[in-house]
Amino acid sequence: VQLSITTDYAAGTGDPSPYLRGIAEAGFTHVHWCHQWSTDFLYSECEIRQIGVWLAEFGLELLDLHGSVGPEKNWASEREYERLAGVELVRNRLYMTARLGGGATILHVPNEPVGDPLRRSLDAVQEFCKERGVCIAIENRTCFDATEQVLSEYGPETVGLCYDCGHGNMIADGLERLGALKDRLISVHLHDNDGIDDQHMIPFTGTVDWSRLARIMATSAYTKPVSMEVSTRNAGIDDEEVFLKKTFDAGVRLTEMVDKERAALEQA
Ligand SMILES: [Zn+2]
Repeated sequence: VQLSITTDYAAGTGDPSPYLRGIAEAGFTHVHWCHQWSTDFLYSECEIRQIGVWLAEFGLELLDLHGSVGPEKNWASEREYERLAGVELVRNRLYMTARLGGGATILHVPNEPVGDPLRRSLDAVQEFCKERGVCIAIENRTCFDATEQVLSEYGPETVGLCYDCGHGNMIADGLERLGALKDRLISVHLHDNDGIDDQHMIPFTGTVDWSRLARIMATSAYTKPVSMEVSTRNAGIDDEEVFLKKTFDAGVRLTEMVDKERAALEQA
């Protein structure tokens, strides 16, 4: 079975290699690169090369990468220099995604109507996406409106949806809105919570409606592995190996649910 987990399940900065090793030993085949996802950190060539070496050494593939909107380099900023630095940061992550063989760079947009600064930034990276064969996946937060707006303004050649089911579980109509956009689904952040806090728990330990989500995933454009954006933070498990094993098992269970839904559809 092919399964993906986020690289920052225990830490989001510093040397990632111990986590990559643990991920591989637990049986995962892919990673969602989530280190430095909200910092101004620019990956240099030697760092990208080293990450490629580690991935190969551990037998892992890059599924997708969480691109960064930092505190001072922000692609949606009204301050022009800060926006331009944000575009550079986004390009850095698009480049890294392509270099390491991933298909999509996930990005956040502000929870407000899409403004001109963000539009200019999106326009600026379109060509780069096409040249490099990577897409931008806009992630839903608890507000879906801006995500929907970007998807309506930009086509599927360069922009798709990353559905974060934890964020979706914190609003009443998350799965309904995913259903409406499922043809644009290119990335997933799968994790669980109690519906109130963004806890990033292991699937099936919170209140996400996994059966309904599996059904939607089976009919969606998404055909890549189940990808879990979990964290040890609220898991109540001290042993990292046990945490990874439990996450892996939950991923297998969810993969089977999606496969079953697909098979049922083919028979119908
Ligand atoms: Zn997420």
